[in-house]
Amino acid sequence: MEPAMITKIVDVKRNNVIIKDEDTINIIKEAGLILKSGGLVAFPTETVYGLGGDALNPRSSEKIYNAKGRPSDNPLIIHIASIEKLEQIVEEIPKKGKALANAFWPGPLTMIFHKSEIVPDETTGGLSTVAVRMPSHETAIALIEAAGGFIAAPSANLSGRPSPTVAKYVIEDMDGRIDMIIEGDAIEIGLESTIVDMTEDPPVILRPGFVTKEMLEAIIGKVKTDQTILEGTSTKAPKAPGMKYRHYAPKGEMSMIEGKTEQVITCINERAKKAKEEGKKVGVIATTENIMQYEADYIKCIGSKQNEEQIASQLYRILREFDDDGVDVILSECFSEEGMGYAIMNRLLKASGYRKIILK
Ligand code: AMP
Ligand code: MG
Repeated sequence: MEPAMITKIVDVKRNNVIIKDEDTINIIKEAGLILKSGGLVAFPTETVYGLGGDALNPRSSEKIYNAKGRPSDNPLIIHIASIEKLEQIVEEIPKKGKALANAFWPGPLTMIFHKSEIVPDETTGGLSTVAVRMPSHETAIALIEAAGGFIAAPSANLSGRPSPTVAKYVIEDMDGRIDMIIEGDAIEIGLESTIVDMTEDPPVILRPGFVTKEMLEAIIGKVKTDQTILEGTSTKAPKAPGMKYRHYAPKGEMSMIEGKTEQVITCINERAKKAKEEGKKVGVIATTENIMQYEADYIKCIGSKQNEEQIASQLYRILREFDDDGVDVILSECFSEEGMGYAIMNRLLKASGYRKIILK
């Protein structure tokens, strides 16, 4: 389908800093009006770029699914800018939910509650529960307020592609499909929010992220992790409907290599050489520590092994760049699954279709 609409692209930053002038205020006002009248606006958040629509308008949610090419049984997260708004869209706020909101909002945590009447089924993919997050990014907060308080927003990419952490990739996927794109500063976190199901006790992590299990448990005690998260195959139906869909995938065939450092480097170089002989273009995801030891067409540094936050913030940009480079084969080191490493490995394994090679 050819793009059918004109997308207004606006920029609220200079040298990667949000400018707080009259122009920015007017942009946010205009974007708020677009959302209130049922249109779609992509905007920066601290996790990844979001594709927003009015969460209480069923037509807007339908439009989001269309723009993304996303199946409509994959529910959306509602973004709010104040805790008072939470009361309007959920049946009740359990004690543990309040405690987590106090500890981590605004920030990269999404919580699932029983929904109230005013939330349309279109927004929750037909579920009786609703996912809610309060972002910390100032543009996001201003936009939510300008839009009336409730923005439904998945990541601003075409369904199945890696989430955009750079405005360039929002434009690539969404130009011609939505009303407005707001370009912002560099995304801080780079991974989607942690999702916790608060309708269960103990609550269950459905998607790992920057806020780790340990951080949640420090506030509310025991938290469980959904079994399907790090396994590709499971006979159990995933609790979060989105988990059943292919996600975060680059175009090239990606493999994760696990083992002792020297073995991993040798294995990646051998595989890269073989793929090259077959006429394929090869990309390698390397850590700062090992980058000098690889040979491939494109070698990209994801950051230091010691710095998970850096790795998280580079990950999606690198996957999208490999698409730009036309890479056919992607080989990556594995990372520690401690702390935020768990979320990083979750996204990389999904991107690779759970193709992991374990060297003994
Ligand atoms: P995103 O892909 O960042 O838009 O996040 C949306 C994901 O949140 C969905 O794919 C689901 O996995 C999850 N989600 C949203 N709402 C619910 C809900 N009510 N129950 C369970 N999971 C949900
Ligand atoms: Mg997404």
